[in-house]
Amino acid sequence: NSSGKMGLTAKILLAMAAGLGIGLALRLMFPGSQVVEDIFTNGIFNVLGALFVSALRMLVVPLVFVSLVCGTATLSDPSRLGRLGGKTLALYLFTTAVAISLALGAALLFQPGDATMQTANMAFDAKQAPSLTDVIIGLVPKNPINAMVEGNMLQIIVFAILFGFSIAHIGERGERLRQFFIDLNEVMMKLVTLVMAIAPIGVFGLIAKLTLTLGMDTFGSVVKYFFLVLGVLIVHALVVYPLLVSTLSGLNPMTFLKKMRSVQLFAFSTASSAATLPISIENANYRLGVSNRVSSFTLPLGATVNMDGTAIMQGVATVFIAQVFGIDLSISDMLMVILTATLASIGTAGVPGVGLIMLAMVLQQVNLPVEGIALILGVDRLLDMVRTAVNVTGDAAVSVVVASSEGELSRDTYTDPNAGQDKL
Ligand code: ASP
Repeated sequence: NSSGKMGLTAKILLAMAAGLGIGLALRLMFPGSQVVEDIFTNGIFNVLGALFVSALRMLVVPLVFVSLVCGTATLSDPSRLGRLGGKTLALYLFTTAVAISLALGAALLFQPGDATMQTANMAFDAKQAPSLTDVIIGLVPKNPINAMVEGNMLQIIVFAILFGFSIAHIGERGERLRQFFIDLNEVMMKLVTLVMAIAPIGVFGLIAKLTLTLGMDTFGSVVKYFFLVLGVLIVHALVVYPLLVSTLSGLNPMTFLKKMRSVQLFAFSTASSAATLPISIENANYRLGVSNRVSSFTLPLGATVNMDGTAIMQGVATVFIAQVFGIDLSISDMLMVILTATLASIGTAGVPGVGLIMLAMVLQQVNLPVEGIALILGVDRLLDMVRTAVNVTGDAAVSVVVASSEGELSRDTYTDPNAGQDKL
């Protein structure tokens, strides 16, 4: 940028390269060393990475609550809220259904699974995913403070909307509170900027630790699966989202992709849409020109309910596991997979590895052996990182489209290549 200083994206990339380099060097120089493990893997690198992720997570609950109250408190027309919600949800469900269909299609075409693979002695302990009725009942918090303590995103969203709505509708007095929340929101944004300043150090720690712990031998037989998921993820991010943004809002999709880079790097290093949320919101507001009213609603919702990257993994994994076990999937099985994977993504939070829990649910639904997950476990960590980057890109794309259709997108900010550079 103009000041000649390195931009955040560049710094993070550099930090990733450094983490990878130092991790690899330590690995090669001291293979299997206990000292390296104690001092670096579980010591320094772990501390740097964990501090950074904790700092991000620290911001999520207050940020979502404050920015959503702020967004709804300034919305005097309640019918707009309904329209906003309807559009957002419809687009989230649509993109997820496209993602998983794409994945199923690609998997059927490229046949990643091989029935000669060893499936004996396989075990996977599946955690229970919430059922649809539980998700619906659980939308309303019995105790909003508890929802915040637990970081239950959907419940926080519901309470914040009702709270903000009420501020907007108590007349004169609401004005004072509204002003208070607008100021508070400013404070939260400042906090995000502070945490982002340490991002390169945190990312360095995360990547260095990962490089030291990742077992490369696990790749073996699942190479084809790995690359197929990766391929579909890339196509979805580079083709489907740009198409969505350009056809539905007539914006230059290249600008969108360019401005998503730093958010994607955060998502990639943390493997958590929820932890990336503060950066997603800041990026949408200052770089993409989405109004806080729209971003504060669409993005927290998206981090929880919209997981296109995760759905892609599930589509490919289902076909892969079916092929390995020599089971044929019928058309109705496939439809079931699309339905379950789309719905499963609604009730589960955007944290590392949650995709596997959802996959267990999908497999059960179509009567495939859940132990099959053990096959793909080894490569899941890396795929988790990439699919999280796709998940947050999908949230932002929908946010841009909704904002543009509601007249809540600043086209000047969107087109200005330097907009928000000082913040991100
Ligand atoms: N880690 C992903 C996310 O936070 C979810 C998953 O696919 O496991 O978006």
